Amino acid sequence: MNPIPYGRQNITQEDIEAVVDVLKSDYLTQGPKIAEFEKAFAEYIGCKYAVAVSNGTAALHLCTLALGVGNGHKVITTPITFAASANCIRYAGGEVVFADIDPKTYLLDISKVEEVLKSSPKGTIKGIIPVDFAGRAVNLEAFRKLADQYGCWIIEDACHAPGGYFIDSKGQKQNCGNGNYAELAIFSFHPVKHIACGEGGMITTNDEKLYQKLLLLRTHGITKDPKLLQENHGGWYYEMQELGFNYRLTDFQAALGISQLKRADDGLKRRREIAMVYEKAFTEIPDIKGQSGFVEGHGYHLYIIETEKRKGLYDFLREYNIFSQVHYIPVHLMPYYKQYGWKKGDMPIAEKYYERCLSLPMYPTLKEDEQEFTIKCVIDFCKK
Ligand SMILES: *Cc1c(COP(=O)(O)O)cnc(C)c1O
Repeated sequence: MNPIPYGRQNITQEDIEAVVDVLKSDYLTQGPKIAEFEKAFAEYIGCKYAVAVSNGTAALHLCTLALGVGNGHKVITTPITFAASANCIRYAGGEVVFADIDPKTYLLDISKVEEVLKSSPKGTIKGIIPVDFAGRAVNLEAFRKLADQYGCWIIEDACHAPGGYFIDSKGQKQNCGNGNYAELAIFSFHPVKHIACGEGGMITTNDEKLYQKLLLLRTHGITKDPKLLQENHGGWYYEMQELGFNYRLTDFQAALGISQLKRADDGLKRRREIAMVYEKAFTEIPDIKGQSGFVEGHGYHLYIIETEKRKGLYDFLREYNIFSQVHYIPVHLMPYYKQYGWKKGDMPIAEKYYERCLSLPMYPTLKEDEQEFTIKCVIDFCKK
């Protein structure tokens, strides 16, 4: 059996040709493919505006800047996420406040967020960054209500969940990143995510002001738009109006993104099938807790099991060339965040989850026999 990773990109001949076409064209960066990708992505998600950027972390950084995070501003996020969800608060000078997860969904626990908001001096918490962890959509309608009570904004980290959704109180589907409840949402196009650009990211929003600000911040804070200029000296003239960055995506990456996006729903369908096969296989295995049955709208970026024998299982699978992974080491326990006073015991549910969690192979091109082999190895290990 070839090595089986936990996640993997799927590049087709069509993808390759799309990239090569751009390499032969006039624009390598900020050409027509960027706008085309943004438009197609906004349509896919169901939001008004999309801004393509160089990666998901840059997307998060621009979001905290656009929302005006500054020195001492506190922002709440989950400890069970990739570090970037928290780091973006620090980039802008803010302070990270972790709140624990819900043991059933693994998502930021809204009751824990409410406790933090209640116990903090009024106005000190500026925002909340929930994560659609593993592809499961956060109920943003509930978060919006809470955020409004405390005057907070919301950035949805939807890196795991393009195509995911939750059902709102009116029975309507609400796609991850659609901007109906959160001010801003972000996605990543790293190869392990659903849509691969190599490196790449996207910000989605329905707020035109934030959209304009993001466009400016993405390109050094520079504009050439005659409507926005304070002066105008001629055709060459531009102004740097904000301290922005170079967070542009290249045109050939955008071409890859467009091509990949066309297959996004097929990939999602396959991910859901794979999840169902795992669920069924593990229901009878007492040592293994699967991912809480079928959840409508789950994007299944990851398929996570919980087991007391996690380390043993991880090592056992490696012997058989199956490279499972742990998502994630709690961010508050990283040495960087420990220096701000966070310590073991602060997030008991996240910490217990971390002791038990393991992500099994989950990607659209995972073959049936590879999944069967993975399941067999997991069950064999449990029987030992
Ligand atoms: C991948 C990821 C990011 C960062 O995206 P990059 O494109 O790798 O910078 C942020 N948050 C979450 C939850 C992620 O999975």
